[in-house]
Amino acid sequence: MTHQPNYSPMQAKAPAPPGPGLYPSGPYQPVPPVSSYQPVPPVSSYQPVPPVSSYQPGPPLTSYPASPGQPLLTRPPMGGLPSHTPPQSASPSPGPRLPPAQATPPPPSVSSSSYYQNPQQPQPMAPSWQYNTAPPPMGPPASMSTPPRGPVANHVNPAVSSTAPPPPSSAVYTSAPPAHVSHSATQPPGPRMPPTSAHGYTQPGTVPPPMNPMAPHTYQPSRAPYGPPPTGPPPTMKATPPPTGPPMGNATPPPPKAVGTVAGNGPQAPNSYNHVDNKMAGLPQPGPPGRHLGHYPSLPPGYQNTSTPHNTTSPMHPAMQAATQPYTQAPQPYQQPPGGPGPAQLSPSLAAMSLQSSTPEALRVVNLLQERNLLPPRPIPAPTPCLPQDLQKINCNPEVFRSTLTSIPQTQSLLNKAKMPLGLLLHPFKDLSQLPVVTSSTIVRCRSCRTYINPFVSFLDQRRWKCNLCYRVNDVPEEFMYNPVSRSYGEPHKRPEVQNATIEFIAPSEYMLRPPQPAVYLFVLDVSHNAVETGYLNVFCQSLLDNINALPGDSRTKVGFITFDSTIHFYNLQEGLSQPQMLIVSDIEDIFLPTPDSLLVNLNECKELVQDLLKSLPTLFEKTMETQSALGSALQAAFKLLSPTGGRMSVFQTQLPNLGVGALQSREDPNQRASAKDIQHLSPATDFYKKLALDCSGQQVAVDLFLLSSQYCDLASLGCISRYSAGSVYYYPSYHHQHNPAQVECFQKDLKRYITRKIGFEAVMRIRCTKGLSIHTFHGNFFVRSTDLLSLPNVNPDAGFAVQMSIEENLDDMQVVSFQAALLYTSSKGERRIRVHTLCLPVVNSLSDIFAGADVQAISGLLACMAVDRSVTASLSDARDAMTNAAIDSLTSYRQSVLTIQQPGLLAPACLRLFPLFILALLKQKSFRTGTSTRLDDRVFAMCQLKYQPLAYAMLMIHPSLYRIDDLTDEGALNISERTIPQPILLQLSVEKLSREAAFLMDAGTVMYLWIGRNCNPNFLSQVLGVPSYASVPDNLFMLPELDTAESQRTRAFIGWLRDQRPFFPSLRVIRDESQWKASFMQNMIEDRTESALSYYEFLLHLQQQISK
Ligand SMILES: [Zn+2]
Repeated sequence: MTHQPNYSPMQAKAPAPPGPGLYPSGPYQPVPPVSSYQPVPPVSSYQPVPPVSSYQPGPPLTSYPASPGQPLLTRPPMGGLPSHTPPQSASPSPGPRLPPAQATPPPPSVSSSSYYQNPQQPQPMAPSWQYNTAPPPMGPPASMSTPPRGPVANHVNPAVSSTAPPPPSSAVYTSAPPAHVSHSATQPPGPRMPPTSAHGYTQPGTVPPPMNPMAPHTYQPSRAPYGPPPTGPPPTMKATPPPTGPPMGNATPPPPKAVGTVAGNGPQAPNSYNHVDNKMAGLPQPGPPGRHLGHYPSLPPGYQNTSTPHNTTSPMHPAMQAATQPYTQAPQPYQQPPGGPGPAQLSPSLAAMSLQSSTPEALRVVNLLQERNLLPPRPIPAPTPCLPQDLQKINCNPEVFRSTLTSIPQTQSLLNKAKMPLGLLLHPFKDLSQLPVVTSSTIVRCRSCRTYINPFVSFLDQRRWKCNLCYRVNDVPEEFMYNPVSRSYGEPHKRPEVQNATIEFIAPSEYMLRPPQPAVYLFVLDVSHNAVETGYLNVFCQSLLDNINALPGDSRTKVGFITFDSTIHFYNLQEGLSQPQMLIVSDIEDIFLPTPDSLLVNLNECKELVQDLLKSLPTLFEKTMETQSALGSALQAAFKLLSPTGGRMSVFQTQLPNLGVGALQSREDPNQRASAKDIQHLSPATDFYKKLALDCSGQQVAVDLFLLSSQYCDLASLGCISRYSAGSVYYYPSYHHQHNPAQVECFQKDLKRYITRKIGFEAVMRIRCTKGLSIHTFHGNFFVRSTDLLSLPNVNPDAGFAVQMSIEENLDDMQVVSFQAALLYTSSKGERRIRVHTLCLPVVNSLSDIFAGADVQAISGLLACMAVDRSVTASLSDARDAMTNAAIDSLTSYRQSVLTIQQPGLLAPACLRLFPLFILALLKQKSFRTGTSTRLDDRVFAMCQLKYQPLAYAMLMIHPSLYRIDDLTDEGALNISERTIPQPILLQLSVEKLSREAAFLMDAGTVMYLWIGRNCNPNFLSQVLGVPSYASVPDNLFMLPELDTAESQRTRAFIGWLRDQRPFFPSLRVIRDESQWKASFMQNMIEDRTESALSYYEFLLHLQQQISK
């Protein structure tokens, strides 16, 4: 630490591990070094022009005028009988209802401080990034009332750190530490067990089980709304001690495939290796056998050999394709635009280089002010780490695991000098076309640091291997001597574990603290008047009906439904009922489960009832006039229902919750949407949702939020429910089944993916790194359980994570370092599995080598995550300044420390030539822009996406792709499944590139714009759009007509291919002169000047001015 003179204890205290005593804080106690460089003066010399409000601000919040005397419960009974008001539903008006949201919202500044550590930490005088000093936003504040949690369920290895003393060998594979087991005594043991008193949710014994399926049952209709449930203590949320560990071995029905079976299936032969399963992780095709396990191209078979990343005959998106290629060239190939830069561009730059001949392409000097066409025609591949070819050949796929710097600096001070952030970007549960799966009774791990054996360990001899993270020498277990792939003995280095940087293990029983949980899905549906108005319920029910057999799971899968408005409605779906039975609980202050045993039911056994319910739900609430939304209580009810098993909670909400716990008030001032000043209310108004999320996380429940709304819903507050429980947020602004068909299509497609995609339950992810490196901040949706362990109640294949790293000890003697991400999860079939990714990178000791290995996309992605945190903990303007300074600082460092000959201009190494462009794009992105009207929820959602989307998708949201598509040809096209996919080149994001005679497609990740020029080629209009003229292009066109023309087929193939490469569905919007979306389209023209933001060229000049100061 001697090289960090500015170390300040105040900044170092941030990421205290939550679990006292459980995770030795010593070696991982993050003491983030503070970079010692002087911050550049704040960037405030240019101020945006006054904002222009481009759309009419809506009223803050519409309340539907509900007639005061409106009976609360007038809905017909299940089964669609003629409207018949059950007697008990006539007068359950809750009377002394709490005024909404009086209790919760503290002043924003206070609430902000309650979420993030060190809120009072003095902000740096100048807004430069201080790498490695940002407080981790995810750690629980010390003051949180939620008790600290113990190690997560089923994780065998609570105390792991790369520098921890070796545990006694007997501890290696022991299962539950006794401390956790003791909790199981009070835990509801299994899915079918009634809740115990430990939860305080005792089943109301005095209430007879409702037997009449014809009428909804309302509990406590005549009781004071604040009374306790019929029996048992009131279920106070705060009083519930969140158990620290899952119950162990108890009444939970064993999974169909008992763990012992896996281990015991074993081998008749002397090895314990059962099989190497080349099953496709996501696709059914078998992979190539044997040594092909080594690299796992995510390409469909048949496309694996399509040469280089530049080869346009590959079927994949070039970025993806490049990433999947086992790259063998070092240094990385720099992608030259066709024709290359002209001599005029090259020579002045090269003239300045002292090492012309030996300079790698990544370090070629580029004068950004002179080279105008920097954008490559194809997406940029990830840079290749400068490793020996044999190592690089088996290295982790950068789509899965990627570092901002592909060459790791030897010391923190060197990293500080480079002024680039060091971090990892992960997509750990990505759908892979090929994934080696290993079943073995012994998973070989380092005895000291618990690292999984991987391709980058070294074998001292046949019997000993040396850990690449802590350097301990370990014995090779006997069974590892047998190689099932070659069926030979005595070649441990040829085992699949040592040949694959990504591998999955089927875990033996030591990896379980309880039987693996079944797949459990609970749907929580807003059925208020507002919700019914949007028409979403129909789409949801139909989607689930259509895909119910594709819901991942096995014979144990359970489902349940809760609907809510001002009351909470449960559905008894127990086998044997003739139809579903609705149970209404109106006491939302004191929520309880009316019949806890029959609300979550086995899907196979009760499928017909579930289908009946889905068919009747949309009509059930058709006539409702209830405008209130007791979301908080519904979430509490759902949490109670899922607590015994864990599972996935899918919440559909259409308005600001305004009743009971968690009620919110509108905080958005529409007049401030276009403010050029700081944006308020980016942090939550209440900690209710975060606390509940942490309770959920402790019980292995993840909450996914679908927000469908035209009004402000305070996503900054609501989003916490997903963020801390490892869920995801989907947002459909202005959703309406009639007025917004494009949104309906998106919602349908997203739902289909959501319902059918792979899912992992009760997961944890641990990231280990070579001794000397340490993690200090995570980004994504999760709960940080300890400094290197994330709690993920659910893990899904579409989630990305980012990690900031620091260098705590000099890496002097090391040639390479490694990073290993291990994701332990329960599959939907009840198998405990571990997916392990290992990334190996070289260590370098010169600044020029660090620069040569910079990954500009990864850096931009990590900076975006850091900027989101900064926006919330400090301010948006602070975050914006910090991003600008990141560009200034790194280019200054390059100029001062790498370039040997000074010359005028704004100079960048070729590998960073797009850095200023991406920074400018971030400044203009919805998350961070100022001076352009941006709804608060839209902004907050954009921020969520930057933190949560894997890099490939986040980059499209930062810097969209623009293509000309009216002249698509088959030249250079891809050929996939006998479909020809044209490959137009990427264009710069500038109006200059548009032409009135043409049509352009802008792919902005979640949305695509089809811009049609006023004099667009009539052939395109008729052959692709099916209209005779520009004037007849319909404004609301969101789907291209299926015309039987070559042009139509090409265009649809191209758009379809782009869509196929992401897990969410981008809608298509047609832009004409008068289009309502024109402004959004134009805002993505990043290189152009707007009334509130600089053009790219102006931005470069600004950078140059700062750098030459
Ligand atoms: Zn080790």
